[in-house]
Amino acid sequence: MDDQQSKLAQPDRCASSSDDCVAALIDALGGDRVRTGADIPARNMQDACHYAPTRPLALIVPRSTDEVSTALRVCRAHGQPVVVQGGLTGLAGGAHPYAGEIALSLEKMVGIEELDQLSGTLTALAGTPLATIQEAANRAGLLCGIDLGARGSCSIGGNVATNAGGNQVVRYGMTRKNVLGLEVVLADGTVVRSLNKMIKNNAGFDWTQLFIGSEGTLGVVTRVVLGLHPQPGKVCTALVAVDTFADCVALLRAIDHALPGQILVFEAMWKDFMAVATERLGLAPPFAQAHGIVLLIEVAAVDDALEQVLAQAHARGAVRDALVAQSGGDQKRFWQFRESIYEYGRLFPHLVGFDIAIPLDRMEEASAAMRQELATRFAHCVAVFFGHVADSNLHIVAAAQHLDEAGKEEIERAIYRMTAAFGGSISAEHGIGRGKRPYLALSREANELELMRRLKAALDPSGILNQGRVL
Ligand SMILES: Cc1cc2nc3c(=O)[nH]c(=O)nc-3n(C[C@H](O)[C@H](O)[C@H](O)COP(=O)(O)OP(=O)(O)OC[C@H]3O[C@@H](n4cnc5c(N)ncnc54)[C@H](O)[C@@H]3O)c2cc1C
Repeated sequence: MDDQQSKLAQPDRCASSSDDCVAALIDALGGDRVRTGADIPARNMQDACHYAPTRPLALIVPRSTDEVSTALRVCRAHGQPVVVQGGLTGLAGGAHPYAGEIALSLEKMVGIEELDQLSGTLTALAGTPLATIQEAANRAGLLCGIDLGARGSCSIGGNVATNAGGNQVVRYGMTRKNVLGLEVVLADGTVVRSLNKMIKNNAGFDWTQLFIGSEGTLGVVTRVVLGLHPQPGKVCTALVAVDTFADCVALLRAIDHALPGQILVFEAMWKDFMAVATERLGLAPPFAQAHGIVLLIEVAAVDDALEQVLAQAHARGAVRDALVAQSGGDQKRFWQFRESIYEYGRLFPHLVGFDIAIPLDRMEEASAAMRQELATRFAHCVAVFFGHVADSNLHIVAAAQHLDEAGKEEIERAIYRMTAAFGGSISAEHGIGRGKRPYLALSREANELELMRRLKAALDPSGILNQGRVL
């Protein structure tokens, strides 16, 4: 670890004890905003990463941006490390507290402040659940471009902090592409606000972009302005069987060519994934025989436009079989395959999940090599491959009945090294957090890391915010 890193890892704590900091927080914010000991709910002791629950020193639940500012000013003055919490659905351990940290939760900063139909924008407090935003946009005849499986629990502030991806990135981009404005509180309590609602605004640096995907290390997001989209109209959902990843990409291009910009969802589920869904989780097999890859595709299409593209691909031999949803029930049934991954917790007591990105031209080679590696070195694991492949995003889960921490690390090292060798990224969408921090240098050059450290040091010189995450 070089000097800069060690400086960030050890904030300049003043002589005051942590107890003094908690007392000062209660004094400044009132007892109902600061919880300690047994009053801290179990929920705030972990995120979705399943590390051992850890009780933070205290939990702050501010109701306003001013209160976030006051809380950070007090913590900064005491050199007190703070972990920021949104909906706690993060899969990189970023919001999971370390012992001795104070958790600052946005859970009470909830609400949509404005839905501007003329501008097509929505302004919300950072703790607002994504589903609440999606529903409000729908009621107004518009659509929020961000969607992910955790929609009911994750917060828009957490989505911004992680630059969340999800199901519709192929059409609407990552969270970054949907954000027009932000309000952020810096580590010293300074409130920086640009609640911009305009698509064009080149008046100086767009500093808001710096905070998107910074995982709470640079500041606390308190308000978000999103650009909304027109609703896509009729959505056509299909399950399509292909033999190879090359066929999968050829179909992606063919649909995009026939229906430009209309693909909403393009999810790949390899044979091993479908085997767990059907044989272990009991879903009825969609096709008479197993195929190399099953795709879940959604397209905004009129009449039988998607069927026509699929029929042409079938005639060329690029598609083996296909089902097009004829009802909402079919649509739900098709999605059950993709969402079967959320049932793994009850099936496998131990698992390691990967959220990597691989350039599309190397995906076939990389997935085959990784499957081979897992099968030969970790034969006791069930390995499944799936993902938002139109965005180069590959998810892998290696699951087993017994897998200790050392075993998990060995699997992680193997897959992350191979990811780097194939020119990929160790995080496509979930972020680095605590879990992937040791591997960040596999995906970033030394000068990039140095620039990140400089930015961190400039915005949070005492290193109190989300210490030990990302950098
Ligand atoms: C079932 C399931 C499905 C998922 N699917 C996807 C998916 O498809 N795509 C995807 O990208 N992710 C997915 N995730 C991961 C997760 O939902 C996202 O990372 C989400 O954006 C996290 O939001 P959150 O509010 O829960 O954040 P948290 O888990 O509370 O926090 C995540 C990180 O952001 C920081 N943070 C939170 N709020 C703020 C704030 N207001 N200001 C500054 N920093 C903050 C935290 O410190 C932490 O580092 C999934 C998770 C689950 C459980």
